Amino acid sequence: MIKSDFHSHSNFSGDSQTSMELMVQKAISLSLQQLCITEHHDIDMIPAEEGISFLLDFESYIKQYSFIKNKYADNIDLLLGIEIGIQPHLISELSSIINSFPFDFVICSSHIVAGLDPYFPEYFLDKTQKEAYTIYFQDVLKNIKLFNNFDVYGHLDYIIRYGNYTHKTYNYSDYSDIFSEILKTIIQNGKGIELNTSGYRYNLGQPHPSFEIISEYKRLGGEIITVGSDAHVPEQICNNFDLAEAVLKKAGFNYYTIFKSRTPEFVKI
Ligand SMILES: [Zn+2]
Ligand SMILES: [Zn+2]
Repeated sequence: MIKSDFHSHSNFSGDSQTSMELMVQKAISLSLQQLCITEHHDIDMIPAEEGISFLLDFESYIKQYSFIKNKYADNIDLLLGIEIGIQPHLISELSSIINSFPFDFVICSSHIVAGLDPYFPEYFLDKTQKEAYTIYFQDVLKNIKLFNNFDVYGHLDYIIRYGNYTHKTYNYSDYSDIFSEILKTIIQNGKGIELNTSGYRYNLGQPHPSFEIISEYKRLGGEIITVGSDAHVPEQICNNFDLAEAVLKKAGFNYYTIFKSRTPEFVKI
C-alpha cells in the first residue's frame, strides 16, 4: 500500500481554502507515514477570481509548516515541498528561491505555456487538439533542457484536463518522439516524474501522466516516481491510490519514491 502523498496544497496556495492543520489531521486519520505539502508558487499566473494570489508567502508558509510538523511529530512525517510553475524566463529567479529555503521536495510544473494558461479557453483558440497538446509538450521539453533545480516534473500531461474536446485523452504514439526526449532528458539529469492521481478526479480515466508514459519511463530506465493526489481539500488526500498502485505495478515498478532534504528514498509497495 502507498503510505505517502507527495502532492498536496493548503490555503497557502491560491486555490485552496483548507488550513494546513486540517490537511495533516486527515492524512493522520488515513494512517499516512508521510504527507508532503507542495504549495503553489506561480509567477505570472492570473487568478480566476479576485483576491487570490499564486505567489507564495514563503516566510509564513515555513513558519506554519514548522509549527504543524512539531505539533504532529509523533503522528506523521510532514515534509516541506513546493510546486513551482516553470517558464523559461523564470529559471534563474526560481532556482534562487528554491536554494533559499530548506525544501524536502520540489515539483516543477508547466501551468503557463507561451504566456497562456490552459485553464482558460484562450489557450486552445485557433489550435487543433494536436497543436494544443504538442505546444504544451514542447514547452515541457524546453524547460527540462534549461532547468535542473527540481526533483520531479509535475503532471506531465496536465494539458489534457482543460481542452473542450470529446476525447481529451490521446494516443501516446502521436507524441512518442517528443515524449521519449522528455523522458530521456529527465532520466539523464537524475530527475523524476510523479504519478498524479488527479486525472481520475477530472474524469480522464487515467492518472497524470498516462499509463503509457509511465510505462515508457520505466522501460527507458526511469526509477524516480513519486505519488501524489494534488489534494486541495482533505477529502482528496490519497484519492485513487489503489489505482496508482495498480498502474505502478503494471508498469513494472515494485516501489515508489519519497523525498527528504531533496534526496530520493525508495519504498517497496
Ligand atoms: Zn499543478
Ligand atoms: Zn498541485
